[in-house]
Amino acid sequence: MKYVSTRDTKRVVTGAQAIAEGIAPDGGLYVPESFPALTAEDWEKLRGMEYAERAAFVLSLYLDEFSYEELLGFAKEAYGRFYGEDPCPLVKIDEKQYFLELWHGPTCAFKDMALTMLPHLLTASKRKLGDKGKTLILTATSGDTGKAAMEGFRDVDGTAIIVFYPSDGVSDMQRRQMITQEGKNVCVCAIRGNFDDAQSAVKRIFTSKEAAEKLAAHGYKLSSANSINWGRLAPQIAYYISAYCDLVNAGEIKQGEKVDFCVPTGNFGDILAAYYAMRMGMPAGKLICASNSNRVLTDFFGTGKYDTHRKFVETISPSMDIIISSNLERLLFEYAGRNDKTVAAWMDALKKEGAYSVGEECLARMRELFDCGSCDEEQTAQTIAYYFDEYGYLIDPHTAVAAGVYLRGSEDGRPCVMVSTANPYKFPADVLAAVEGKRVDDPYAAAEQLCEASAAEIPQPLKGLDKRAVRFTTVIDRDKIEDFVYEQVADK
Ligand SMILES: *Cc1c(COP(=O)(O)O)cnc(C)c1O
Repeated sequence: MKYVSTRDTKRVVTGAQAIAEGIAPDGGLYVPESFPALTAEDWEKLRGMEYAERAAFVLSLYLDEFSYEELLGFAKEAYGRFYGEDPCPLVKIDEKQYFLELWHGPTCAFKDMALTMLPHLLTASKRKLGDKGKTLILTATSGDTGKAAMEGFRDVDGTAIIVFYPSDGVSDMQRRQMITQEGKNVCVCAIRGNFDDAQSAVKRIFTSKEAAEKLAAHGYKLSSANSINWGRLAPQIAYYISAYCDLVNAGEIKQGEKVDFCVPTGNFGDILAAYYAMRMGMPAGKLICASNSNRVLTDFFGTGKYDTHRKFVETISPSMDIIISSNLERLLFEYAGRNDKTVAAWMDALKKEGAYSVGEECLARMRELFDCGSCDEEQTAQTIAYYFDEYGYLIDPHTAVAAGVYLRGSEDGRPCVMVSTANPYKFPADVLAAVEGKRVDDPYAAAEQLCEASAAEIPQPLKGLDKRAVRFTTVIDRDKIEDFVYEQVADK
């Protein structure tokens, strides 16, 4: 399997190259040249497998320089770090509703599904390419990615990771998780500014020749742990296929029957993986793209116009507070008939004018598969309360955005898998406020009260966080980010 850039299909690379590079030099994203099709035999095999085997099987179809055994070794190590028996259990709520819980990993958010695999894929890719240099992972985070990336890359030979987060833009629990992070090769730093400031500074370093030379002098090359990296996206395809197998195995559906998937969406990585699974032959009815008050994608799927001229809203589902949804580019590439020129022109318009339109015909084809909707803050809180009161089931604000969109929209009668992306205890104050109607700002006190009010246990990775030693206290101005990176690299 080869990969091409969405902005230049003449740029053809191997899977290992795509993963090591992260992003194409033309600014495009790497996509597989074609989609491997799952046969009836494959489905039968997959249904008989446990999760790590399913993940290795799906990845082996995309990464043919890797053997199944090699990938299975990675998957067993990655998913062996999850707590509980099944890394991604499917929870039945009633005859039509299921939650796919993707947060049983080391940081309690769905990012772990891919970020526990990425370090293995990246180091093995470098080995295959004969690249003996060190890799520096630079990440700007609004909370979940940074922690999951540090946890994934901690003490991985030949890598170092530096994470920047907005000092006032993450939840208390998220901050606490980051500043107590262990590992010799990790570093996290708060910046005075918002997430966009952190993100732009990091992007600037990625595209600066001078920065590349300075880092090379210390033996480092840059790479990304963001979902623009194919090594981060590919492992996500597996859990959709796995959920479908689980539904068939449990007798909920017959093989071949269509299922809807409703996905709380920010950067469009998670729902794109569902689309790829569908292209491989997973019988999907509708893919429902759920947004919070930052409803740029809802408007896009409604009108065909992607328009960034809007106010950035800070919500109780911060990991979805995104205006520029990077992975949509990969979907557009497919719906533009894989025409790189069309995609490049849209992305150019996005950069220069902050907007582009895909046209009626393209929109109509997308709407055959994609539905969309958004939840404002009140609807999100009401949805958390609804599932708790009706079913005794606690969900986090991100998952609630998806569930809220599903509740208000679904009429096709098909079973729907709602993707549950974070453990509710990652956002204890907002979840408690939704179910009990009272505000307790201290996250540990809120978690205790939530635990008393519900049957849900505080997950092991979040326990005792308040007692763990704080390792990182640095706060810097945003214009000092680049210098900070050089200091760290010189130190290592
Ligand atoms: C990152 C994240 C999302 C959004 O996923 P995308 O792949 O960016 O669309 C949703 N929920 C949580 C909890 C997340 O951390």
